[in-house]
Amino acid sequence: MADLIRLTAAELAAEIAAGSVSSVEVTEAHLARVEAVDEKVHAFLHVDREGALAQARAVDERRAAGERLGPLAGVPLALKDIFTTEGVPTTVGSKILEGWIPPYDATVTRRLKDAGVVILGKTNMDEFAMGSSTENSAFGPTGNPWDLTRIPGGSGGGSAASLASFQAPLAIGTDTGGSIRQPAAVTGTVGVKPTYGGVSRYGMVAFSSSLDQGGPCARTVLDAALLHQVIAGHDPLDSTSIDAPVPDVVEAARNGSVAGLRIGVVKEFRGEGYQAGVLQRFDESVALLRELGAEVVEVSCPSFDLALAAYYLIAPSECSSNLARFDAMRYGLRIGDDGTRSAEEVTSLTREAGFGPEVKRRVMLGTYALSSGYYDAYYGSAQKVRTLVARDFERAFADVHVLVSPTTPTTAFPIGERADDPMAMYRADLCTIPVNLAGNAAMSLPCGLAPEDGLPVGLQIIAPAMADDRLYRVGAAVEAAFQARWGHPIIEEVPAL
Ligand code: GLN
Repeated sequence: MADLIRLTAAELAAEIAAGSVSSVEVTEAHLARVEAVDEKVHAFLHVDREGALAQARAVDERRAAGERLGPLAGVPLALKDIFTTEGVPTTVGSKILEGWIPPYDATVTRRLKDAGVVILGKTNMDEFAMGSSTENSAFGPTGNPWDLTRIPGGSGGGSAASLASFQAPLAIGTDTGGSIRQPAAVTGTVGVKPTYGGVSRYGMVAFSSSLDQGGPCARTVLDAALLHQVIAGHDPLDSTSIDAPVPDVVEAARNGSVAGLRIGVVKEFRGEGYQAGVLQRFDESVALLRELGAEVVEVSCPSFDLALAAYYLIAPSECSSNLARFDAMRYGLRIGDDGTRSAEEVTSLTREAGFGPEVKRRVMLGTYALSSGYYDAYYGSAQKVRTLVARDFERAFADVHVLVSPTTPTTAFPIGERADDPMAMYRADLCTIPVNLAGNAAMSLPCGLAPEDGLPVGLQIIAPAMADDRLYRVGAAVEAAFQARWGHPIIEEVPAL
């Protein structure tokens, strides 16, 4: 059998189900890989060796007892450290939660465990998911496996890097403004932001509740679909969870096709700030879609030009309210509690020490935007832009089945390059943010390497809310066509670590 760490999740699950390899063997192979390369990559904040092996053993026992296993049973996964895991630390990439061991599992965590998915550990991320490079993690940055001096995207850089360095075949991310899709794009992997409400937010530490959405990360479209199906679906513990059947994403991924579809190219996503090689690969993807039988038309969404500004009012506003719960009394870090200080002083000392600069910047921006006298001018206007963005999508989807764009304006940039320039950092999410504002679904998948730097480029596919299956149908067709052209999946080109 081929090197276990190189197999896809679907292949691993099939081998495990057939009994040709055990989940323990698969898990050990991945843990050995983590041991061998993660010192360089730093995808994980916490590796749960014992827990993973115990989960793997349980799957092997169930199989030995003749139980029919689910489609991902026994397959290892890397979980973003924003989901609570009972008995296993959850930091959100922040010092503020230091020492906190959650007493409960997030719904996503629980569904993974119930499906027999083996959780290897928790992955690095920008603190509270605020960032596009994983440099805002309180525990140091993650390297991009394609070039360790470059960023793996963010906030879910650890999850994406774990896939691209073959430490895990599956990972989970969260996407508030692009944190699943942008890391996928710059690491040559697949990432999906499901329709808002499609995956439960229960136990997912809140950043911006009206935008946050968990979703699957993988190296292939089919693997992402299999994982999507495990984590999605109604959850009474999340009041915004959609109470409707999940679109059949696995069937769609198995039957990729674009024939007869009308596909819109978003006109606004090009121009200044877009790397030439990114646009070249994007244009080739559009040509490919035509070759495959799609009708491609240009679509204008004029409000998208305002989306970034609106997002940077709405997300900080919601975070300033969500992060108020980190008061040094309830969870994690507590500084200066020596009997001489008031509770207020302890809270303030703890926040000063426990939150990093980007989190503080966002809380201050959000508090300001919500303050009386400024509320209408800032938060109120941003909400109006949000409505306009949703209307642009509505108008577009009245005419086309899906929209396409580059996922990011550039390939992975060097670590440190944008660290002191928040505006440059924020622009990494230019093409992903409108989707979160409107609440619909989108995927990023690899569409080649940029000629000028040899780094991966992502193609974004956007579907209307509750039509997540369209992403997989189109994504699978594009993936197969690119593989036929190159003779292998693009991930094969990642340099050896
Ligand atoms: N990069 C964006 C931000 O910093 C989006 C992050 C995310 O999706 N969690 O807010």
